[in-house]
Amino acid sequence: MAEVTVAGAGVIGLTTAVTLQRAGHVVHVVASQPGLETTSGAAGALWGPVGIAGGGREFRWAMRGYQVLMELARTTPKAGVDVLRSCEVDEGTGRPWWGDAVEQLELIPAGSLYPLASHLWSFLAPRAEPALFMPWLEAQLAAPIQWRTLSRLEDEPGDLVINCTGLGARRLCGDGDLVGVWGQTVITEPGNLPMAAALGDERDQSAVFYSIPRRAEVLLGGCRVPVEGDTVPAEDVALTAAILARTRAAGYEPGAVLRVRSGLRPARPRIRVEREGRIVHNYGHGGAGYTLGWGCAEEVAALVAEFEAQSVG
Ligand SMILES: Cc1cc2nc3c(=O)[nH]c(=O)nc-3n(C[C@H](O)[C@H](O)[C@H](O)COP(=O)(O)OP(=O)(O)OC[C@H]3O[C@@H](n4cnc5c(N)ncnc54)[C@H](O)[C@@H]3O)c2cc1C
Repeated sequence: MAEVTVAGAGVIGLTTAVTLQRAGHVVHVVASQPGLETTSGAAGALWGPVGIAGGGREFRWAMRGYQVLMELARTTPKAGVDVLRSCEVDEGTGRPWWGDAVEQLELIPAGSLYPLASHLWSFLAPRAEPALFMPWLEAQLAAPIQWRTLSRLEDEPGDLVINCTGLGARRLCGDGDLVGVWGQTVITEPGNLPMAAALGDERDQSAVFYSIPRRAEVLLGGCRVPVEGDTVPAEDVALTAAILARTRAAGYEPGAVLRVRSGLRPARPRIRVEREGRIVHNYGHGGAGYTLGWGCAEEVAALVAEFEAQSVG
């Protein structure tokens, strides 16, 4: 079994660390910030391969993410994962490429659930609450996380180093393909929003709308705006008002605003899961880190096993 350093404590780093530990490896996680303070803490964390080009690998990752999160929802309440009915506006592009990965997919009339559209794709989907899920993942680790900033992956100890640094990989690997895509959300008391169904309308990328219920609050979004650099923009007050207006236009009255949260999705034309010598990269999950994390982590575990087999051979 290998001794492995995992760089990054967001949802990708923690999911990867837990998967490698379960495979029998000795795992050390090193990160500059807790995931709840980075992009992972800003997420709606609903399963859905949003903005991801479908392909063989992506389908496999999405399907494994679905299976693992659904299993957690059904067996481990303290992990903070629940099953919702996810309802996404039909964009007229036919059955979604990920359709075979989900349970109970059907095209339904939108009716009063979302009067701004005619039809919705409805399916069961797991949703994680980052504030519960991230600490639960951390609690699975045998060794405490080391809080420090890496300047070179190559300098880290262990047989292998797993690079799960999200947007941080731009600097660490000089990866110019990585772009931060800003998302702002408004978290409110439930009001009269549906608490068992999530709504999503991605038809107009300049006025994206989603409503994702948590156990005691609702996360409303949003926006997808590529930005330069890695500084999260300050709250856009006009956007906060627009998100609340979009919610009312859909026929719902949100409860009191609890907080506004922003994050930068680590977007890349293709997610990078590959080995380069003793470094294994696992970053660039854009708006789908919760959706794809477990599937990518299993692929990392396979790359680690292959490295070990070659080293022995
Ligand atoms: C508004 C919004 C809504 C979203 N909704 C969803 C959703 O509904 N479903 C879904 O699947 N996804 C969603 N996402 C996307 C999801 O949040 C991301 O894909 C995911 O959080 C990326 O995780 P990560 O671990 O790669 O990055 P991060 O969470 O950014 O973690 C990176 C980690 O690496 C560390 N790090 C970076 N550089 C260094 C360094 N040099 N040295 C040491 N440590 C370093 C950081 O400190 C941190 O611990 C959403 C994102 C946003 C912004």
